[in-house]
Amino acid sequence: MIVKKNQSLLKLNSFRIDVCAKEYVEITKESELLELYGKHRKKKILFIGGGSNILFTKNFNGLVVHLNIKGKNYKKINDEYVMVSASSGENWNDLVNWCVNSGFGGVENLSLIPGNVGGAPVQNIGAYGRELKDVLVSCKVYNWENGTFCEFQRSQCDFDYRDSIFKKNKNLLITKVNLKLTTKNHLIISSYSGVNEELKKLGVKSASIKDISKAVSNIRSRKLPNPEKIGNAGSFFKNPIVEKNQLDFLVKNFENIPYYPLDNNLFKIPAAWLIEKCGFKGKKFTNFGVSEKQPLVLVNYGGASGKEILQLSKSIVSTVKKIFRIDLQTEVNII
Ligand SMILES: Cc1cc2nc3c(=O)[nH]c(=O)nc-3n(C[C@H](O)[C@H](O)[C@H](O)COP(=O)(O)OP(=O)(O)OC[C@H]3O[C@@H](n4cnc5c(N)ncnc54)[C@H](O)[C@@H]3O)c2cc1C
Repeated sequence: MIVKKNQSLLKLNSFRIDVCAKEYVEITKESELLELYGKHRKKKILFIGGGSNILFTKNFNGLVVHLNIKGKNYKKINDEYVMVSASSGENWNDLVNWCVNSGFGGVENLSLIPGNVGGAPVQNIGAYGRELKDVLVSCKVYNWENGTFCEFQRSQCDFDYRDSIFKKNKNLLITKVNLKLTTKNHLIISSYSGVNEELKKLGVKSASIKDISKAVSNIRSRKLPNPEKIGNAGSFFKNPIVEKNQLDFLVKNFENIPYYPLDNNLFKIPAAWLIEKCGFKGKKFTNFGVSEKQPLVLVNYGGASGKEILQLSKSIVSTVKKIFRIDLQTEVNII
């Protein structure tokens, strides 16, 4: 375990923001956390995984801990289920591919989401009708407050739409996740955002988990800018959830506004539609802007600063507020 000084974080964040950490250390074993805690517990700390959900707005004046603990395995529960355990430093999509190729169902709709396993519970990753909470049983956690390991069961994780206890409490460090996946009678979710049409294009009649994974990956590759080529962190904003009276105002004033009913008389509005209607889709400001493919995604075309991107996000928030009376919430972690 070597603590380096003035480490560039350029390659450690998918927005490709050129900032430095005052100190940086890579952790490859759980036991190293105990040593780290012993020596550095009083320091200002930031834990990172794949760096695909972070916007750095300045140099980090503390210790960045890059979690790179590897390992995955599975145990049979019974004829229908397995428990897959994966360490936080495993790449999420590699884990999904491994599960799909092993015939384990439950994560195929979450194909091609960037980042690491440890980052996945933080915002309860979700896509195409599935969220991590649907399959997560528990997480092994290192509590940076008191330097001990403990287990968080799903019910203790406070999972919600792009939210969890880990998003609020930055002292809880996930080192491992346990997922209960199916080995037969897989729940095939295909009625979501064009998956059925993509399956038709692929000539699939009765979809398997592999087909779903392929269809989702194809759609995502077309619809989202590839962070390997254009710096971004996926959706910058959450889809807003509104109450019935607010929905009534929106429907009355904005023809064709899309919305999806949720429980408790609440409604989800696609933030992408709001941002597009405000004229931001594809807008370019020198070397940063809003993706032309997906208005929810802010992009760094190369050399932009985190402050510029943050400023753009604020301008989107205030325009959406002025026109639609809706407060957009940020999904990306601003540091
Ligand atoms: C092109 C693109 C598409 C995306 N699509 C989706 C999508 O469809 N659905 C979706 O939900 N997300 C999506 N994302 C966002 C991102 O991929 C996920 O949030 C991912 O899970 C982040 O993992 P990470 O390892 O990169 O986390 P990081 O960016 O490294 O960290 C994110 C936050 O989690 C904390 N953190 C990281 N690791 C740990 C850990 N082990 N324990 C505790 N805290 C930790 C960090 O401190 C930080 O606050 C997308 C991103 C991109 C770039």
